[in-house]
Amino acid sequence: MLSVTQIPERYRNIIDEQIKIFDQQRSVQVKNKIPDTADIPIESPNHWLRIPDVICVFVDMKGSTQLSASTHDKSTAGAYQLFVGTAVKLFNEFEAPYIDVRGDGIFALFNSDAPYRAIAAAVSFKTFSREEFTPKIKELTDLGIGAHIGIDQKTVLVRKIGFKKYGGRTDRQNEVWAGKPVNMAAKLSSLATQDELVVSDRYFNNIRHESVLKTCGCVDGQPGREKVDLWTEIDVSDDPKYDFQKAHKLSSYWCLNHGREYCEAILKLDEDKSKSAVPIF
Ligand SMILES: [Zn+2]
Repeated sequence: MLSVTQIPERYRNIIDEQIKIFDQQRSVQVKNKIPDTADIPIESPNHWLRIPDVICVFVDMKGSTQLSASTHDKSTAGAYQLFVGTAVKLFNEFEAPYIDVRGDGIFALFNSDAPYRAIAAAVSFKTFSREEFTPKIKELTDLGIGAHIGIDQKTVLVRKIGFKKYGGRTDRQNEVWAGKPVNMAAKLSSLATQDELVVSDRYFNNIRHESVLKTCGCVDGQPGREKVDLWTEIDVSDDPKYDFQKAHKLSSYWCLNHGREYCEAILKLDEDKSKSAVPIF
């Protein structure tokens, strides 16, 4: 416990006020969908929302520490704009109900009934990174920078924490997503090497359709070969960072012949899960 002479009183008062809130009863209201950001509560500090099985897609710039704001300010600025700008706008186009930026990482949340939408969004960003972002930044800076991506799915708690308004501004508050998915998706992205996607087992179990699990049969742009497995299993049972035993890694991206039709067909899988056992091609 803080002693009276340990910290100036005006700061101590802030801490005491927060401890008073902590000591009160909390209420948790269950919501089945991610609410509009405007509807996430900021009033009554002990009121939280709980949303089951939220999917988090986390994309991060691999190799971004090589970029420098002091020596290469313009190319660094360009790389961030291209990477973060594309992620936010692309995930928005994939109708992610919530998107936020954390440093050079961007995360998008999807509802539990949209696992195929989440994978389609992740693979689309991965394809952009490989085909456009990495080559452009390489040409400009000679640095090898790309994306690494993680996906997890579990229950989250959310509310806004901070000042509702401060000097007329609302920037001293943010939505706080407590629980596993955002943290685990970020950690899974760090397990991925450049242009890889790594997902937790509990999310992977919800994307069992053949069009997500196997190739289209193209090899180096040549169609008509055997359809083979796209995913590699990773054992993470020895790593205390993860609260699951297995992860799954995807190195491929949208096929240059079939990507567009696969993306559209995979998006439709969320609409009618009862048909998801039927091959779409
Ligand atoms: Zn193909």
